[in-house]
Amino acid sequence: MAEEHLVPIGRVAQWFGMRVPALRFYEDEGLITTRRRNGRRHFDERDLRRLALVRTYVESGKLSHDEIGTLLSPAPRSGARTLAEQHIPVLETHVDSASSALRLLRHHVDHDHPDQLTCPRCDQELRERLDRYTCRRGQR
Ligand SMILES: [Zn+2]
Repeated sequence: MAEEHLVPIGRVAQWFGMRVPALRFYEDEGLITTRRRNGRRHFDERDLRRLALVRTYVESGKLSHDEIGTLLSPAPRSGARTLAEQHIPVLETHVDSASSALRLLRHHVDHDHPDQLTCPRCDQELRERLDRYTCRRGQR
């Protein structure tokens, strides 16, 4: 993206469904980079890709800003790799739970039942969930 393709911060905020102060906060925290033109913040292609990476990690719901800062650090001993390795199983569990919640919610909408605990199909999903929870806690 050439310099004439710099995107002003207001438009970037719109694209990402964020408020400008939130983007400034990210910059203050060192999570993202911007460049000034006429004293105003703009994003080039690399800045936009970095923001996309930050938002992806934030929206995972499982990474703090400090951890995201570590993940984005290019320093060889930053601990980024170790942190990434630690978070993979956490995110796998999170994705699994979210997928199950999505199936339960879709079934809830499709069948419009008042009580998911008495629905056979929901019950099957919930039994599988219960097995995972109790396995994780070593009770079975
Ligand atoms: Zn159901």
